[in-house]
Amino acid sequence: MSSEPLFGTVCFIGIGLIGSSLARVIRRDGLAREIVACARRQETLDKTMELGLADRVTTDPAEAARGADLIVICSPIGTYGAIAQAIAPVLQPGQVVSDVGSVKQAVIAAVAPHLPEGVAFVPGHPIAGTEHSGPESGFDTLFEGRWCILTPQPGTDEAAIDKVAELWRRAGSRIDRMDASHHDQVLAITSHLPHLIAYTIVGTVFDLETSTSQEVIQYSASGFRDFTRIAASDPVMWRDIFMNNREAVLEMLGRFSEDLSRLQRAIRWGEADVLEDLFTRTRDVRRSIVDAGQG
Ligand code: NAP
Repeated sequence: MSSEPLFGTVCFIGIGLIGSSLARVIRRDGLAREIVACARRQETLDKTMELGLADRVTTDPAEAARGADLIVICSPIGTYGAIAQAIAPVLQPGQVVSDVGSVKQAVIAAVAPHLPEGVAFVPGHPIAGTEHSGPESGFDTLFEGRWCILTPQPGTDEAAIDKVAELWRRAGSRIDRMDASHHDQVLAITSHLPHLIAYTIVGTVFDLETSTSQEVIQYSASGFRDFTRIAASDPVMWRDIFMNNREAVLEMLGRFSEDLSRLQRAIRWGEADVLEDLFTRTRDVRRSIVDAGQG
């Protein structure tokens, strides 16, 4: 399907799973006249060109951002501050900067102070992904039927917000707007804590006797296997998420530890009804997620 372009030039700083998936949507539907991509490694940029995802590529963020109508930062969160600093001198009023980072308060703190007057910042977070990385792992249907949360600060140019929202709508996403700190709390429980649990449980296997850990791998049933998929997510991206959403993750982790202790006690004292009651309620949560089309 081809549409009227929404943008002249769209620039991606970071073109891995998320950036390349959005670039594929833009290419597929003709949503920009030109796509520029920036990454650290020439190898990534060669792959990007080979896949036909960009018209121009560069390792210099400022060169990439110069003159682009929309700049979308799609690199690990820990790189955002330096990227914003690097592109700031070439930015002009009217340009729009957005991002896809999984944490929002820290991203706003790292980016917003560097942006010149008249440049709108529309932070975004597509609630979609896989455990794979790099431009070759993206696909144009990644965002279909998924939410994209925008967390612009009060006073941000509404026309800029609408344009970014429209891009995600064309990618098939549903849009929600919320305060950055609320976003970080919601994501701490729905995404960050589950990843931490997966990293922990898979890590626990390392400490088992060698013979037992080999059996875990050999006989891995859906429970452990599902955790290994989550725990295979990109180490740098997840390091940065935990370093940048400390407060909310620690708050949710505290609640989780209390609930875990309660279950430990129920098992120790043979309180079968406590376990059955919880497992019944959790099954209802799963059903509501499936009913909401997020299964
Ligand atoms: P990815 O596949 O690992 O891609 C990261 C990209 O960033 C690569 O192109 C990498 O280039 C580039 N990059 C790294 N450091 C850079 C720097 N200093 N300057 C410019 N480019 C740099 O990562 P991803 O999964 O797409 O995640 C990107 C962002 O999306 C993260 O902020 C993450 O929080 C967010 N996010 C991820 C998911 C998910 O499930 N994966 C979901 C929602 C949001 P090189 O190859 O040259 O290093």
